[in-house]
Amino acid sequence: MLAVNILAKKRDAKVLTSKEIDFIVKQFVAGKLPDYQMAAFLMSVCINGMNQAETFDLTKAMLSSGQVLDLSDISGTKVDKHSTGGVGDKLSLIVVPIVAAAGLKVLKMSGKSLGHTGGTIDKLASIPGFKTKLSIKEIISQINEVGAVFVSQLDDLSIADKKIYALRDQTATVPSVSLIASSIMSKKLATGANAFVFDVKVGSGAFVKSMAEAEGLADIMLDIAKKSGKKATALITDMNQPLGKAVGNSLEVKEAIDCLSGKGSREVMELSKAISIEMILTADGADTYSEAKLKVESVLNSGEAKEKFAQIIAAQGGNEAVVKNPEKLPLASYEYNYLSKNDGYVSFKDCQLVGEAACLLGAGRSFPGAKIEPGVGLLFHKKQASRVKSGQSLATIYYQDISKLKRAVALLDKAVMVVDQQPGRFLLIKEKLSSE
Ligand code: URA
Repeated sequence: MLAVNILAKKRDAKVLTSKEIDFIVKQFVAGKLPDYQMAAFLMSVCINGMNQAETFDLTKAMLSSGQVLDLSDISGTKVDKHSTGGVGDKLSLIVVPIVAAAGLKVLKMSGKSLGHTGGTIDKLASIPGFKTKLSIKEIISQINEVGAVFVSQLDDLSIADKKIYALRDQTATVPSVSLIASSIMSKKLATGANAFVFDVKVGSGAFVKSMAEAEGLADIMLDIAKKSGKKATALITDMNQPLGKAVGNSLEVKEAIDCLSGKGSREVMELSKAISIEMILTADGADTYSEAKLKVESVLNSGEAKEKFAQIIAAQGGNEAVVKNPEKLPLASYEYNYLSKNDGYVSFKDCQLVGEAACLLGAGRSFPGAKIEPGVGLLFHKKQASRVKSGQSLATIYYQDISKLKRAVALLDKAVMVVDQQPGRFLLIKEKLSSE
């Protein structure tokens, strides 16, 4: 088999066989296919797409480039949740303790910040002492003892994804539904969980901007889950404005703790409950929607979900006192009040720019390995369609470096505007799809 012939086939928008896809992935992981050929392959997939069978074959090839965890020492269904990436998306920090407090087993393997989107691992790293690099033995024993664990991507799972993702980041080939689905699913299937809930973000702050693309991505991930013998549900949810109030690592942990204390914004509480309910249902932890809802509300009202978060933090070496006293979390040295320049209504024009502003302040990485500032970010006081007066604060910006603040403010000026006509509100949960 010659790589160049396979590249020509995809360049001409033809369908590749399972053997051809396997060949490309194996050769690349073995270092026998140079980056320039893989980059050409990725660009042709990005432009011409792949059908569901090809995407499944690509996922299988990537999955078999690494290990698959054996979770047979943990009894019962193991459930996982994955977001396709957003701005201010702190949901994992809320739903994992809720679902574990409701009696399910959760293995949450998460990533670091990616492009303009935040990463759960960076958020957790803002909790003093919190360790996210754990051995397989530690993962299994924590799930058995506490019910849930947060871990960063293990080095030997989906080795192909690490190599391919690094190249996609440099070659403008991230936004392809097939490449996103195979990247996510090769890692998810490698964790050995039996049930999945996907939060597919759509809108200006997400990797997929249109509803048609989001439905396509949800469909492909559900198809891959089904063909792999796993139960899965997907919610397509809004990402046209930051989720909740905070964008930035320790600020988001604090907001998550507020939600676990029952003091979160309506929006974050609604979505956290919806995802928790789907996780319980998908993992057969309840027979009906109302039973699952009751479980979620009961662990939130009794404080068990908040207590579970403290237990998880303590088990992973973190200072669990932050749950009772969030002021123990790091906060940037300086604050800037971002004020409305006129009377009117808040309109989010481009949520990606909010993510870019947070990243620029130091909440994300502008290059691999860049240092994260745990306490920087933005706290929004007004959201889409809110009425504001001139001089009223729209957001507080937490920063360390004045030159970065100026650039972040310039991005915010384009991201969010105050307009005369009240704009429409964004519908939070747009659609639910399931693999059955
Ligand atoms: N998250 C991933 O893990 N991979 C992608 O390609 C996009 C989002």
